[in-house]
Amino acid sequence: MKVVHTFEEVRDLAGGRIGLVPTMGFFHEGHLSLIKAAAESTDTVVVSVFVNPLQFNESGDLDAYPRDLDRDAALAETAGAQLLIAPADSYMYPRQHYTRIRVAGASDGMEGAYRSGHFDGVATVVAKLFAGVRPDVAFFGRKDAQQLAVVRALARDLSFPVEIRGLPIVRESDGLALSSRNIRLDGEIRGSALALSTALFAASDAFEAGERSVAALTHEAATRLGTHSGVETEYVEAATARDVAGVETIEAEVFLAVAARIGNVRLIDNVHLNPGTGLADRGVRLSEPSILYGGP
Ligand code: AMP
Repeated sequence: MKVVHTFEEVRDLAGGRIGLVPTMGFFHEGHLSLIKAAAESTDTVVVSVFVNPLQFNESGDLDAYPRDLDRDAALAETAGAQLLIAPADSYMYPRQHYTRIRVAGASDGMEGAYRSGHFDGVATVVAKLFAGVRPDVAFFGRKDAQQLAVVRALARDLSFPVEIRGLPIVRESDGLALSSRNIRLDGEIRGSALALSTALFAASDAFEAGERSVAALTHEAATRLGTHSGVETEYVEAATARDVAGVETIEAEVFLAVAARIGNVRLIDNVHLNPGTGLADRGVRLSEPSILYGGP
């Protein structure tokens, strides 16, 4: 596997069907599941590692974001990537960079309401990656369900010839959704973080038992979150997976999402509720401790 820093290098080296996995690095099994899926279905897997300043609305969060390119390169190679592009901030956003992309609709509400400008930053960087790498397929996690809807709308509206694939959330063995930010959770705080998935799983159980009222399901999850000390809930909301539209009764695929602060770490999580099958998609669980805690 080769580490490069420009789109020109990627285009020189990539061949056949190109799969792109956009990330901010500090890999865990969630990232590796995307890379493995890309390796199974494309000829050249390009992983991008770029902590995109445009999508951070708190400078403290940007500064504290974990980074380790050597570790990421080793893990990406094991998972089956051929190229890793780690562009510099000044390459992605030189002084004369005036364009910002805004995807209306899907960007509003939930994360968009709490993180002003976040999805404009995401849409802008993803558009640059699509234009620079020119992938045939791009892989994203359902962990960021709203982001996935924003990216699908972006690719469709701007006619990028790329197929977007969404993959299941990977969780630790106790249910906590993997996030690079989890390494900032220690001691008691780690226990409080479990409140997010516990609340979502309780609502999933109610959905599978037949509950279709969004008010009842969000109430179930919010009540459970509220009983944990050390958890400051930002929102518990549901929206259609396709276009992040509000719903009262679940008639199409919906994601039920939570965002909460645990100490100074902000976490998000969701479950997908499918009224067609009557089942909730809670993602997949690791059987062992994550590589976040002492892997290579
Ligand atoms: P990030 O590096 O956090 O920007 O994430 C890069 C990609 O990995 C995004 O498409 C995320 O949705 C995905 N991702 C992050 N965490 C998980 C997870 N726990 N399970 C599955 N995908 C994930």
